[in-house]
Amino acid sequence: MTSHASLPAVPVDSLRWREILDVLRSAKRVAVTTHIHPDGDALGSVMALVWMLQLTGVEAVPVLTDPAPENLRFLDAGGEARVAGDPRVDAVLSASDVIAVVDVSTSDRLGRLMNRVLAAPGRRICIDHHTDGDFPAAPSLIDTSASSAGELIYELSRLLLGDGPLPLRIAEALYAAIMTDTGGFRYTNTTARTHRVVAELIEAGVKPEHIYREVYHKARPEVLRLLGLALAGLQTDIQGRLAWIDITQERLALSGARQEDVDGFVELPRTLLGVDVVILFMELQSGKVKVSMRSREGVNVHDLASQFGGGGHVHAAGILMEGPWIASREALLEAARKALGGRTA
Ligand code: 5GP
Ligand code: MN
Repeated sequence: MTSHASLPAVPVDSLRWREILDVLRSAKRVAVTTHIHPDGDALGSVMALVWMLQLTGVEAVPVLTDPAPENLRFLDAGGEARVAGDPRVDAVLSASDVIAVVDVSTSDRLGRLMNRVLAAPGRRICIDHHTDGDFPAAPSLIDTSASSAGELIYELSRLLLGDGPLPLRIAEALYAAIMTDTGGFRYTNTTARTHRVVAELIEAGVKPEHIYREVYHKARPEVLRLLGLALAGLQTDIQGRLAWIDITQERLALSGARQEDVDGFVELPRTLLGVDVVILFMELQSGKVKVSMRSREGVNVHDLASQFGGGGHVHAAGILMEGPWIASREALLEAARKALGGRTA
């Protein structure tokens, strides 16, 4: 019987990583950070990279603009992350010879940390899978064909740590990153490469059901009540091609749920027959409006978001609109109708 054990299951393009490897291998202290309101890919990628670097003898510290949402805290069970507002953040940033930014390449998506990251003395590097970022980093590796930042960090792990088995917590963090950014391996960003990487992670000991439960099965009744309110108010237009739901401050108060609980709500209207674009509008306490958009294949919500200063991917994009609620909402709905070639008011 021939053994294929020596063949790497996931071909690693080491050339494109060369500069990043050079920088990381000669670093002593690395701060690893990501975008505001970190999601599974952001947090999983940050923690995996931090732990990989620690294994190679680097002093690596995760730095976050916002705390991890409750369901993702298991990824930082040791409480290593330093969150903006913590006085230690400035010390970490100024003592780091490298600042690695993952899952984001748009400066303003670093939120409160943006100016400090840009002013820090360390070298900035970036590993991301989003388009048209403006974040100044050198070297940077932007691969929009990767499902997630986690998929890229996995690739880096093979080069940084060699072919031995990945430590379980690193494999779990990467699995959570890839699972969440692909909607459980369903979105169009899911590729054969994604599945090959995930196969490796499972071989490293990840139990898919365990991670799925950690991330998705922790809802409190308040969250499902809010979902109920949002879905009861579902609206559609242009023969069902456009659908949207509203998370107002009133609905948040009525249900007792929190803003961060809304993650994933935008997925439900996607199950509607014939829907092309789904929008979730969330009224923030500040009066700003946070928008999440999703589209089916062939419809570009990134372009729609960029008309309003937002961004993201072709099929998943977001905007932070200034408000007020009614006007922002109407302006985007109108642009969406136009983009879909439907009637406009
Ligand atoms: P979500 O709807 O899950 O919050 O975000 C979907 C995608 O849009 C993510 O890839 C995220 O990076 C991007 N995105 C969300 N909000 C914003 C925003 O305010 N500005 C930009 N540039 N991208 C966003
Ligand atoms: Mn991502």
